[in-house]
Amino acid sequence: MKKSKSFHQFTPEEVWKWKAMENTFDHALNLHDYQEIRLSILQDHEVLHKGITALMAGREAEQVERRTINLCQPDGELSLLSLRPEGTISVLHHTAKNAQHGAINRYYYHGPMFRLDKDGRAMEFSQLGVELLGSDSILSENEIISLGMRILRELGFRDASLKLNSFGCESCRRKFFADVRTGLEQHAAEYCAPCLEELRANPFAETICEDERCRHRIPPSLSIEGYLCAKCRENFQRIKKIQANLGHRFRVDPLLFKNFAYYNETVFDFVIEQADGELTLGGGGRYDYLSSRITGRKIPAVGFYLDLDAIFRVMDARNLFRPVQKTFAVYLCAQSPEMEMMMLQIAQELHDEDIKTVLNTDIQDTEAEIKSARAHHCEIMISIREDNVRDGKLLLHNLVRDNQDYVQLNQLTQSVRMAQKTLRL
Ligand SMILES: [Zn+2]
Ligand SMILES: [Zn+2]
Repeated sequence: MKKSKSFHQFTPEEVWKWKAMENTFDHALNLHDYQEIRLSILQDHEVLHKGITALMAGREAEQVERRTINLCQPDGELSLLSLRPEGTISVLHHTAKNAQHGAINRYYYHGPMFRLDKDGRAMEFSQLGVELLGSDSILSENEIISLGMRILRELGFRDASLKLNSFGCESCRRKFFADVRTGLEQHAAEYCAPCLEELRANPFAETICEDERCRHRIPPSLSIEGYLCAKCRENFQRIKKIQANLGHRFRVDPLLFKNFAYYNETVFDFVIEQADGELTLGGGGRYDYLSSRITGRKIPAVGFYLDLDAIFRVMDARNLFRPVQKTFAVYLCAQSPEMEMMMLQIAQELHDEDIKTVLNTDIQDTEAEIKSARAHHCEIMISIREDNVRDGKLLLHNLVRDNQDYVQLNQLTQSVRMAQKTLRL
């Protein structure tokens, strides 16, 4: 395995931003009655393998399997564990095991996922997954799409818009695939051999060949839109109408390529405009067939993912993270080692009152302490000196007002609270 360039390491300067982002989507998801589910990062290799083959057609499944990261035993023997490359399969298994017949379940999960990139390097990426299971009503598609749009808007993406398409049902696809095959045979000379094979298996495939003479895609005249059966066509019309009424900007993209074996009917992407072109922040669709293949039960399903790394990058570049409100803090310093116990007791007393403290465990002179307290953004500094303590008092520096005063040791918390009030913090 080649060396990875994309391990995650979140520094404290970034963590508050990740938390702000997570709080925003947690809030929106809770408003819609979605429950968080925490999935194991380690996955049973066999279960995953079965899921992926149910998820995708021949060659595509092979490609995805090649990109999962399987763990080895120390002796080099392949273990039966893989790192999770996605979350839908686990959520489906959970639902199949626990959901009552006819029940609607709304789940979400987020966290790191793992795959090998196209150059064989291990890659860790953060994803939010949202799944609505148990409803085949187009209201559930609209709920899912609107929820994704709401999350993006609440994160600050006023320019988020939708790309929509319908992949139809099994019955309206049959004619489409037959015509695709005929079309591909007629135009066979315009494709390279691997693309032709891939498109025969999956007309929606995104081929990665670099042959300039190759067409890469099925002829544009073969758009699935023209093949939709009456029910699929009507559903798609209603989705478009509802999304328009909800004020969501969208455009129909007949070339919206998703894995066809995975999705049916509605598929969508969430996109924004960047200086260097359109950027996809997530997407999803309905996946009733996948659900029944994996669960062996009829559990209609629709869901979406958001690419949290991309969202984080753009939010940061656009300055969308608002700093969290500063917490009032008290700096504590002892002027002799004998006073350290006293320092810990005072800290405990302040914590009981929900007051944040910063402790300095090195003995320094007052000037250095004040400098350090300011560097830690503390408003109050309390110096704990043996002679003061003996007299039952402590020196309290108000670093904002730049003054200092003795306060009674047994009234310390009240004095700190009083100082905090005058600072309106
Ligand atoms: Zn249909
Ligand atoms: Zn090609």
